[in-house]
Amino acid sequence: MTFDLSSLTVTGIREGLAAREFSAVELAESAYARIDALDADVHAFNSLSRDLASEAARAVDALVAAGGELPPLAGVPVAFKDNMNLRGTTTTCSSRILEGYRSVYDCTAVRRMLDAGALPVGKCNMDEFAFGSSTENSAFGPTHNPWDLDRVPGGSSGGSAAAIAAGEVVLSLGSDTGGSIRQPGALTGTVAMKPTYGRVSRYGCVAFASSLDQIGPFSKTVEECAQTMNVICGKDPMDATSLERPAEDFTAGLRGGVKGLRVGIVRDLLDLEGCDPRVRRSVLDAADTLAGLGAEVGDVDLPSTQYGLPAYYIIGPAEASSNLARFDGIRYGHRAKDADDVLDLYLRSRAEGFGPESIRRIMIGTYALSAGYYDAYYGQAQKVRTLIIRDFERAFADFDVLLTPTSPTTAFKIGEKAADPVSMYLSDVYTIPVNLAGIPAVSVPCGSVDGLPVGLQIMGSHFAESTILRAAYAVEQACGFDPVPPLVKALAGGRGTTAS
Ligand code: GLN
Repeated sequence: MTFDLSSLTVTGIREGLAAREFSAVELAESAYARIDALDADVHAFNSLSRDLASEAARAVDALVAAGGELPPLAGVPVAFKDNMNLRGTTTTCSSRILEGYRSVYDCTAVRRMLDAGALPVGKCNMDEFAFGSSTENSAFGPTHNPWDLDRVPGGSSGGSAAAIAAGEVVLSLGSDTGGSIRQPGALTGTVAMKPTYGRVSRYGCVAFASSLDQIGPFSKTVEECAQTMNVICGKDPMDATSLERPAEDFTAGLRGGVKGLRVGIVRDLLDLEGCDPRVRRSVLDAADTLAGLGAEVGDVDLPSTQYGLPAYYIIGPAEASSNLARFDGIRYGHRAKDADDVLDLYLRSRAEGFGPESIRRIMIGTYALSAGYYDAYYGQAQKVRTLIIRDFERAFADFDVLLTPTSPTTAFKIGEKAADPVSMYLSDVYTIPVNLAGIPAVSVPCGSVDGLPVGLQIMGSHFAESTILRAAYAVEQACGFDPVPPLVKALAGGRGTTAS
């Protein structure tokens, strides 16, 4: 028997397993049945790990049979962005330069999910090395948005987002350097969180920009986002940037309501030219909803964030150009044939292995860091970063959470922005300041426009994940967004189970 994973939650799976309504092996099979039915069209996955998933499923079923206590993600089919290592799988970063690279160790966040009983279904498509906002920069072809297959799912964690919307898995992980979890979350109607910098270990996740990168979850519901955070957060001796914090149950306060919560609408960002007025309207409606529930809603400006995008496109590529220096054709992945000498081998391997956007980032970053330009670009961008941090500090003196759209538009057409990198970069205007400041933010669906989901971004000060999740839960409950796309509903024949 296989089941419609779109209708199952983490809690539902636990209860169903405990009541012997289904087995973990059947849950893994359900994920693959859905992938068989949809992934030729969606292309959320780069690779599948059937053996690992069934091995994990059998372990969960043995635990159920022994009457043991089930770990928090027991039997939950999950997927990982293809920049996270898991032994026994390939980790390609959707790049030819890493094609066929087999992981020799486990990413800590991945390992924590598996130790919590999750079933590793496969690795998800992404923009090459996480450079992009549409998943079109993958060397293996784009991912399609399950809400409209002609549209992008956002990026760079587009595969991880689409896999949730398509009901191929119940949870997934992505990485967010400038918006790569939240923006695809918004475009696919999923709940997507970037935790505080340092909350989640990045050990085993291929680095893009080390002062910005964070791993975080995708799910259909806010509660499942909180449940995943409970599993992946915490100090890891293998990542010096991961922080020692007292253990926190992110689900505990979810239903606490928003009475008295000070909610700031970020006016200057909301009024940016380029924000679809219908997206803007949805965000204001969500703010009204929160006010109706007792929140104290006001306006705030973050004047320096207008420089966030240019600062990010210096800092991000600068760090990326340094991080990507290790892909040289010697130590990892693709090696050019017929090189004359070692320099020629580097040059050819890199020219053949990297796609156009990666090459663009490496060139921008190398230029910005070069002697004579360092102060004018990198130094200046770091100063802007400080101003943005101060903007947020001021805003959080008056407000507990801040609201913007997650993305200025709903999902755009595949190919629509591919030829114009700057218009693509503008997709991240709302998400980038959050990474520059290191604060947490969640994208929660708050409505739809012409059948396409709209995401509300809720930002909080450092370590305020519980507060932003509480606000997100209130929005989710009040707006009643249905996270299952019509395509998926048609396939599943409505809710409930489908016969295998
Ligand atoms: N879209 C942004 C970029 O292209 C953010 C990417 C990310 O967060 N990984 O850099």
